[in-house]
Amino acid sequence: MYSPLIDQLIQALKALPGVGPKSAQRMAFYLLEHNQEGAVGLAQALQAAVEGVGRCDHCQTLTEETTCAICQSTKRDQSTLCVVESPSDVSIFEQAGVYSGVYFVLHGHLSPIDGIGPADLGLDILETRLQQGLVKEIVLATNSTVQGEATAHYISEIAKDTGVVVTRLAQGVPLGGELEYLDGGTLAHAINSRTRFQ
Ligand SMILES: [Zn+2]
Repeated sequence: MYSPLIDQLIQALKALPGVGPKSAQRMAFYLLEHNQEGAVGLAQALQAAVEGVGRCDHCQTLTEETTCAICQSTKRDQSTLCVVESPSDVSIFEQAGVYSGVYFVLHGHLSPIDGIGPADLGLDILETRLQQGLVKEIVLATNSTVQGEATAHYISEIAKDTGVVVTRLAQGVPLGGELEYLDGGTLAHAINSRTRFQ
């Protein structure tokens, strides 16, 4: 329907979450007609980020360093480890400024139906880290969804074998809820009132 390059751009924009054919088409024409400079900046930023960003060798969060700034910081409490499902959850905690420990990012949750097992989440790496003895408490901050809870249970089993204290964010995280929908005050309550996990 469109010339090949325009069509290619529309198809590429559909890679964005929540963007269907109509939105992709609108974005493509907006960029080509009204913001070519922005479009070039977007293309360059995307390429640079995709090529330069990898995973922290310590916590798996996204970073262009070998080890991320949080893991490297001497101001962070390295004995408290908060397990989250995504790098955006780390940002939520950091923006709220309610937590001074370190993180471990799973990039998802256990989901046998999708073929996602422990190794896909780096749980073998997490286990090794717990065995090293530096971590004294692990805070489970996976989402309050069925898969998030199942993942929390699995990790608590690993942690029990290593003698690490396991806690879970306090209620206040709505059932079925994801961290990104929490405001700072609720998140502060959830982390400060965390409870022993079984
Ligand atoms: Zn890190």
